[in-house]
Amino acid sequence: MPKIVAGWLEGARQVPTARFNRRPAGTDICLIVIHCIALPPCHFGGPHVDEIFLGRLDPTAHPYFKLAAAVECSTHFFINRTGLITQYVSCLDRAWHAGRSVYRGRPECNDYSVGIELEGCEYCAYTTEQYDSLKVCVAALRQAYPGIGDKITAHSTIAPGRKTDPGPYFDFSQLGCNGN
Ligand SMILES: [Zn+2]
Repeated sequence: MPKIVAGWLEGARQVPTARFNRRPAGTDICLIVIHCIALPPCHFGGPHVDEIFLGRLDPTAHPYFKLAAAVECSTHFFINRTGLITQYVSCLDRAWHAGRSVYRGRPECNDYSVGIELEGCEYCAYTTEQYDSLKVCVAALRQAYPGIGDKITAHSTIAPGRKTDPGPYFDFSQLGCNGN
């Protein structure tokens, strides 16, 4: 079973980005936030997810990209449709995935969470390979950061009215929790 070593998941594809900053000193990592992404929406494969998290998405390559490229976002992990795990930011650092957010009354989820993006959209199911890889990733995170426990939630839960991902097809029961 792979482990998190110095913030990086063993065996994951590593594509480091400059889009991160330090977590506030002394922050306990105690939450996982599940997201979905596809560029363009509902179109799977291709280089654009790497490009957006690296800050290299060409705003002229697709009409949707004009706005998407202007958002300074990143994530710790991305799991594509085949289950390949890519890591862009060390878990020890703060990735920019949650935006304005509140979890169980506590604001600024980016400070204390790990972000996992699944390649997908809100209109179709995730793949078995994605759940298999997600379980590996979550198990490693729970072992490295025991404060996480059952605290795994959806972007839509911590940013209601603003975000709707990962959508109704994401099955939290696969992770042994209810997403709240
Ligand atoms: Zn999201």
